[in-house]
Amino acid sequence: MARYIFITGGVVSSLGKGVASSALGALLQARGYRVRLRKLDPYLNVDPGTMSPTQHGEVFVTDDGAEADLDLGHYERFTGRSANKMDNITTGRIYQQIIARERRGDYLGATVQVIPHVTDAIKEFVLDGNEDYDFVLCEIGGTVGDIEGLPFFEAIRQLGNDLPRGGAIYVHLTLMPFIPTAGELKTKPTQHSVRELRAIGIQPDILLVRADRPIPAEERRKLSLFCNVRETAVIQALDVATIYDVPIAYHHEGLDTEVLAAFGIDPAPKPQLQRWHQVVDGIRNPEGEVTIAIVGKYTGLKDAYKSLMEALYHGGIANKVRVRLDWIESEVFEKEDPSPYLEGVNGILVPGGFGERGSEGKIHAARFAREHNVPYFGICFGMQMAVIEAARSLAGIEKAGSTEFGETSEPLVGLMTEWLKGNELEKRASEGDLGGTMRLGAYKAALKAGSKIAEIYGSTEIEERHRHRYEVNRDYRPVLEEAGMIFAGMSPDGLLPETVELADHPWFIGVQYHPELKSRPFEPHPLFASFVAAALEQSRLV
Ligand code: GLN
Repeated sequence: MARYIFITGGVVSSLGKGVASSALGALLQARGYRVRLRKLDPYLNVDPGTMSPTQHGEVFVTDDGAEADLDLGHYERFTGRSANKMDNITTGRIYQQIIARERRGDYLGATVQVIPHVTDAIKEFVLDGNEDYDFVLCEIGGTVGDIEGLPFFEAIRQLGNDLPRGGAIYVHLTLMPFIPTAGELKTKPTQHSVRELRAIGIQPDILLVRADRPIPAEERRKLSLFCNVRETAVIQALDVATIYDVPIAYHHEGLDTEVLAAFGIDPAPKPQLQRWHQVVDGIRNPEGEVTIAIVGKYTGLKDAYKSLMEALYHGGIANKVRVRLDWIESEVFEKEDPSPYLEGVNGILVPGGFGERGSEGKIHAARFAREHNVPYFGICFGMQMAVIEAARSLAGIEKAGSTEFGETSEPLVGLMTEWLKGNELEKRASEGDLGGTMRLGAYKAALKAGSKIAEIYGSTEIEERHRHRYEVNRDYRPVLEEAGMIFAGMSPDGLLPETVELADHPWFIGVQYHPELKSRPFEPHPLFASFVAAALEQSRLV
């Protein structure tokens, strides 16, 4: 039977609970255990799909088409296990289900309440489908004390009793701030946070304490005493240079040993950490450097491009180089000449995006890359803008546009109204709901034999994750191919353009899907590995 590890956060948000949970998952996996990670998000949205990337960060997409929290991306990258729809739940989704049940009459006669109905629904979710796992790690979003988090804390408290003895432990992630005037790391915020947890009936078994410098033994004792946690279970979590250092760093501090001890597992199997050492060594000892410009519109919050950044770093690992990212707000190119910004870079990447603002700037970036033979990688929106650029500059379609920005006489990119999902036809109308209605999740594509992209994948059949509402209009395929833009990848039924490439260019590829979502440090995605290799090549030319 699966054992459960509940991970909560205290003091402040942004302590890296997702990475900490992933690292613990990776450490247990390194000891041979089968591990699943799940995220419980207390907010009211049904999923993060409709939230602004500048507020909530990237929307991660799973193979089965869930729009999910970006922590699921960390889970996948650290454990290699592909997440699914059931790995992330929100208050919105729980309530949607409960209200539907109530209307159906499932609770006939009962008053529907937070306890037990909402907490039961949360517990059902947490316990569901875990037969194949040794450990299930459940991360609770937000921090202890948040009003909307209460039903989740209550549910995991109850689970502590519902499960057999020794079936669940609680890990609490907190912060010790350094106060310069006192010259000390302070324990008080952690004490308060643990008091808050204990007030709702949860006694943490392990404290994972973020600090910007080593925690003196005396302070550790104090935390142990006041928080009622064993001294060895107060684990310091210091800042590290790369997130891939975290598993090894936490292992050195004894996190996984303490977790197993808390479950009474003794002796514990030895961890195999070679692959983590390899990844970290690769990152620490690069043999060169390339600079990639990311021309996007959510550049103010780097979390909006989390998987993308990681995939580029993985591309760096594959080529033994450091990848430096140069973030450029695309609107800049609508007023200024891109040359001074882009002349020094070795590759240009236009990522996914939504809406008209900044789109002309992205088109300028694609033009610069095409004209100056700089490697160009257009992802989703970045492919659509590259197609519009090619239509205008190479095929002479001056008015080329996308219906995403309003009516246009030359809809190079238009609303997708129907497509095949497996054997089923999905249909959409322009006035339909926005939430959860894009073309989402893994779809197959067929690549033209002999194309650059087929060569990169080493295959003509691929499967990648999608999240888009618009598509490149295949009616323009003949004129664009005539002008030099090849439609190398299409959906298996031949109806939806999936990838484009320029014949006369060292590396110019657009993809309608999001390859960054499937890249992992141990298995860098072939497109990112190849793009970084092309950037390295370019750096040797200049
Ligand atoms: N806005 C575009 C669409 O919906 C691109 C989406 C994206 O980049 N993920 O098709």
